[in-house]
Amino acid sequence: MDEEILRQRGLKVTEARMKILEILSDQHAHLSADQIASMLEKSGFSSVSLATVYRVLTQFHEAGLIHKHQFEDGASVYELADDDHHDHIVCERCGKIEEFFDAKIEKSQERVARELGYALKGHTMVLYGICSLCAGKEDR
Ligand SMILES: [Zn+2]
Ligand SMILES: [Zn+2]
Repeated sequence: MDEEILRQRGLKVTEARMKILEILSDQHAHLSADQIASMLEKSGFSSVSLATVYRVLTQFHEAGLIHKHQFEDGASVYELADDDHHDHIVCERCGKIEEFFDAKIEKSQERVARELGYALKGHTMVLYGICSLCAGKEDR
């Protein structure tokens, strides 16, 4: 992740913006503003307030750099937008978010839309469940 990306979108390069981009660049990161703020604090950016994090995330979102998701019961989470299309499955216990892509589901959605006379422009597909780690804890 480099400074060019910010400049290309007309955003001034600041340490806080670079650090937030770096945090979101971590593999498959899906993070809330709160989580990002506490990660910033841990890496020595304690002067960056939660309000600043929200402001930066809004700027990134408007610039098309990140996607914003609102999952059931949860805070909004953000992820980098440079990924290929994928859908999400969310653990209702621990809040873990994982990604999946299923060509059959994608095709079915297109077929349903077509049958209803729509040209499909997009979709939101979120599965909710209990992850294997949380299910394992229950067994003990
Ligand atoms: Zn879980
Ligand atoms: Zn994702």
